[in-house]
Amino acid sequence: MLRITELRLPLNHAEDALRPAIVQRLGVLDADLRAFTVFKRSYDARKKSAIVLTYTVDCELTGEAVVLQRFAGDSHIKPTPNTDYHFVAQAPASFYAGSNPQPRPLVIGFGPCGIFAALILAQMGLRPIVLERGKDVRQRTKDTWGLWRQGELDPESNVQFGEGGAGTFSDGKLWSQISDPRFLTRKVLTEFVKAGAPEEILYVNKPHIGTFRLVSMVIKMRAEIEALGGEIRFEQKVSDVLIEDGHIRGVTLASGEQIASNQVVLALGHSARDTFTMLHQRGVYMEAKPFSIGYRIEHPQSIIDAARFGASAGHPILGAADYKLVHHAKNGRSVYSFCMCPGGTVVAATSEPNRVVTNGMSQYSRNERNANAGIVVGINPQDYRQDGKADGPVNPLDGMAFQRIWESRAYELGEGGYKAPGALVGDFIKRQRSKVFGNVEPSYKPGVTLTDLQQKGNGSLPDYALEAIREALPAFERQIKGFSMADAVLTGVETRTSSPLRITRGRDYQSLNVKGLYPAGEGAGYAGGIMSAGVDGIEVAEALGSAMLQPS
Ligand code: FAD
Repeated sequence: MLRITELRLPLNHAEDALRPAIVQRLGVLDADLRAFTVFKRSYDARKKSAIVLTYTVDCELTGEAVVLQRFAGDSHIKPTPNTDYHFVAQAPASFYAGSNPQPRPLVIGFGPCGIFAALILAQMGLRPIVLERGKDVRQRTKDTWGLWRQGELDPESNVQFGEGGAGTFSDGKLWSQISDPRFLTRKVLTEFVKAGAPEEILYVNKPHIGTFRLVSMVIKMRAEIEALGGEIRFEQKVSDVLIEDGHIRGVTLASGEQIASNQVVLALGHSARDTFTMLHQRGVYMEAKPFSIGYRIEHPQSIIDAARFGASAGHPILGAADYKLVHHAKNGRSVYSFCMCPGGTVVAATSEPNRVVTNGMSQYSRNERNANAGIVVGINPQDYRQDGKADGPVNPLDGMAFQRIWESRAYELGEGGYKAPGALVGDFIKRQRSKVFGNVEPSYKPGVTLTDLQQKGNGSLPDYALEAIREALPAFERQIKGFSMADAVLTGVETRTSSPLRITRGRDYQSLNVKGLYPAGEGAGYAGGIMSAGVDGIEVAEALGSAMLQPS
């Protein structure tokens, strides 16, 4: 098969225009093109008046070798790479047979990373046991809505904790910028399609599935792991680890139960603060890492659509427009848009009582009134050290303490009940208190309390972050007309952008100082987003599976 990349056609091209375009590009007879499939479709909207669709297509041709030879110097016409997934090892059926079988591997956490780690281990025949602190996704959905509708938080069952992990109540954006020489993102997408995601995620450039579909997909993936002999236990918080002579030997659950294992995947997510503390106390090597803090911003989606697509706004192929913005502020900070959710809602995303955290989600249709995105400022460990020193190593847990300070402040400024503090963009830029909403109604539930986010001595973020965001908002207006409109709403705070620490691992994917312990995914500092967490889960499962099946 032969692959053409960068095949460009106008947005409104006829449905059957692709075939003649391929034939023309390859300079072959129509009859020689036996079949073709679209591998990827993206759009180029840099010129609003002439938006272009860009295709990557795989073609079956008569005389393919000759055509490939003719285009030998053309980087856009190449043999189609084999993107099939190949297992690195497979357990024999007798692997756990015998009088003294070795213990099964444990996977802690059932977010995207834990799901894919468990799935690959199960597909390799290793029958993993998954321990998830939160509830199954149906019950978890009810608990999460309990916070949004009634202001009642369950600290073990919420946006961060429970089956499906942090990404379950999300926009379900399924793309990533990680380098992927083994096409592992394809394996993730293929498994999602098997679990009920629409086929289009395999070819659309920036696929998304929205929150409802994610819920049913997670249930199907759980069923597959169980059908392969895996086990998934909910409401089983790991509260301790058993380490002997630098090797993991098992875990203790909050119930007191101990489970022996020589291989444990830590797929905890970025909000497992109690577990991070426990691991630190047990001496598992970790270090502080940078993350970002800021607010969610909401605009009418129609403003973003018009700014990005002009007269083509509303075109079904384009859908609701997104954006990606970066500004380098004079004080040396970078401000950027994060986890943009077209046509979505801002959600309450705390996992701890009396703290407020924002994030965003949307449905597949992305047809809510507002667009939202995080507007966040990059910070580094020196910003959140708690010991008052100017330099030197930072305690790995300091980033967590720093997040808690601003999340508690947000709760106070929101005046309780998990309401988020908010301000209109016009007031924020002028550094004045907001009093009434304009024509952007914020979507965050249980509600937004308008306030002065920059109160002297009681600001909602550190001064350097406030200053950088004040400078960035008008700068973003130059890229998206209407971005700094006076009525746009900021709500905060956005603190859980990534893990504040890294549980460092070696080239063998194992903890630097505890063998058999495999830190993975976003919480360990090795992923950011559903796709990269899924890919990391696959890689960790491969390393673990190889170590179990082909011990050196
Ligand atoms: P998590 O998904 O956080 O999963 C970790 C799991 O471990 C949790 O279920 C937790 O309960 C469990 N756990 C923690 N401690 C323990 C313990 N001690 N014992 C047992 N279990 C434990 N990313 C995207 O790519 N696209 C999006 O559109 C998107 N939208 C998002 C919207 C929201 C509201 C949020 C919160 C996040 C969003 N993200 C999105 C980010 C994405 O969800 C995360 O990057 C991803 O879920 C990380 O996967 P993970 O498996 O590493 O961790």
